Amino acid sequence: MSACPPLIAIPLGSPTDGATSLYALGAAYVAAIYAAGGVPVLLPPDDDPTALVARLDAFDGLLLAGGGDVLPEFYGQSATALVQGVDRARDLTEIALVQAALEHGMPLLSICRGAQLLCIAAGGTLHQDIQTNLPCALDHRHQPGRPRDHLSHTVALEHSGQLAWALGLGVGDEVHVNSRHHQAVDTPPPDFCAAARAPDGVIEALELASSNSAFALGVQWHPEDLASRHDCMASLFRALVRRAAQP
Ligand code: MN
Repeated sequence: MSACPPLIAIPLGSPTDGATSLYALGAAYVAAIYAAGGVPVLLPPDDDPTALVARLDAFDGLLLAGGGDVLPEFYGQSATALVQGVDRARDLTEIALVQAALEHGMPLLSICRGAQLLCIAAGGTLHQDIQTNLPCALDHRHQPGRPRDHLSHTVALEHSGQLAWALGLGVGDEVHVNSRHHQAVDTPPPDFCAAARAPDGVIEALELASSNSAFALGVQWHPEDLASRHDCMASLFRALVRRAAQP
């Protein structure tokens, strides 16, 4: 690792409405990057994608956090009534940043909404609502009263690639994960593959398929809420920071 800790950009959503306009980000993302040896830098949305992409040059890696649904128009669909929490400025910001990161080989870890955003930015599509599109699937949504680190289901690795490398596991191995999503990857983008699935077949991780490609990984669960107690989940952030530290 270089003398200077890698700078990991974390894009933010639009500020909240109300008398005091505030940006919001779960503190667990920041803590997980610090614990992994990186320095998180919070990046507000900007109406000018060119300026944003230029700003990305100052960073060594990109972390996409969770949040509301990405507007379906960005993957060629009309929104159903079940789409929730949309933030167009955030969508445009993150799509521009992800496409630039992929183009320049900048290491990228994306979480929950972030994994869905990665899928869309690279040309894939989503299930707008798991229960509607896949009625036999598990209930992947947050259940009221459960803590954020509740382990809801397993995921099984199905590709010997970046996720397996980061977790130190192999194809067929399983890990227990939390689950707070109602959407999921439907069609992975070209050049990407499903790296892990839940027992119901729902894609739970997405990664660049080529073994010599840049680090670009999306996970549907929330490792930031597990990292302090489950070292394998902290290893996902260490993998990002380690790759970001490479020249
Ligand atoms: Mn899930």
